[in-house]
Amino acid sequence: MAFEGLTTRLQNVFGKLKGRGKVSEDDVNEAMREVRLALLEADVNFKVVKDFIAKVKERATGQEVQKSFTPAMVIIDIVNKELTELMGGTQEKLAKANKPPTVILMAGLQGAGKTTLTGKLAKLLQSQNHKPLLVAGDIYRPAAIKQLEVLGEQIGAQVFTLGDKVSPVEIAKQGVQLAKDQGNDYVLIDTAGRLQIDEELMQEIKDIHAAVKPDEVLLVVDAMTGQEAVNVAKSFHEQLALTGVVLTKLDGDTRGGAALSVKAVTGCPIKFASTGERIDQLEAFHPDRMASRILG
Ligand code: GDP
Repeated sequence: MAFEGLTTRLQNVFGKLKGRGKVSEDDVNEAMREVRLALLEADVNFKVVKDFIAKVKERATGQEVQKSFTPAMVIIDIVNKELTELMGGTQEKLAKANKPPTVILMAGLQGAGKTTLTGKLAKLLQSQNHKPLLVAGDIYRPAAIKQLEVLGEQIGAQVFTLGDKVSPVEIAKQGVQLAKDQGNDYVLIDTAGRLQIDEELMQEIKDIHAAVKPDEVLLVVDAMTGQEAVNVAKSFHEQLALTGVVLTKLDGDTRGGAALSVKAVTGCPIKFASTGERIDQLEAFHPDRMASRILG
């Protein structure tokens, strides 16, 4: 399960603190040294860790802690709140166009989980009585169109495709037009990924962006890739003005670095978490719940 190592280590640190009646400044410093190492080992960005520890330390050496009969609990509470802040504070909702349809563009590397997310998000929207249209814009990965069609069939959502001979920009444009004509209130555009970021990939998705002016640009990143996920998010954000990040594969044994760093590094909120291959395994990302889960 995700975050296991981090959770165990943090529980050890706080277990030691709880064993003490009073907590001295030295105790706090020692605990923060250990929290720092635990976060670095969980692959959290170096600078993010530094800022985080500084904030917690500042609050944990204050009056509130010294006066408390349960200082360890006060420190855990501070860490919990700062972890929540680090991951964005509050849950960020999906954007909504003033005038439908709301256009959502999926971005990300190959294998991150874009096509799967397109199906999952469509199902989630259907459950809220929306009528999404799925657009098959990944014309390069041989099985991507078929994969989206299968997902669409599974949930009873329409999939728009023009095969793999028409440019993705044209497919996206026609898809949005079809949604307008038919009265779909959401359009989810799946796009091509590459194994790594390259000029061609960026240019293509920028062209799609310019053509359909999406209300939401979701970057899908594989949480298992840790710092690499954060680097990918940074590059995409610089070029594409992302509006949200979706972390996938949180059901795997990710150490947690991506979840804990991506908002701080890019400024872009994490909107959803994908926790499995099944179509219903998608959750709105709640920073407070994730912080509690990490603390165990
Ligand atoms: P794309 O290339 O970005 O479109 O990626 P896909 O949607 O095809 O996903 C790549 C692989 O990751 C597939 O085998 C998916 O079933 C799997 N996958 C996607 N999301 C998750 C997730 O949250 N957890 C797990 N365990 N697997 C996932």
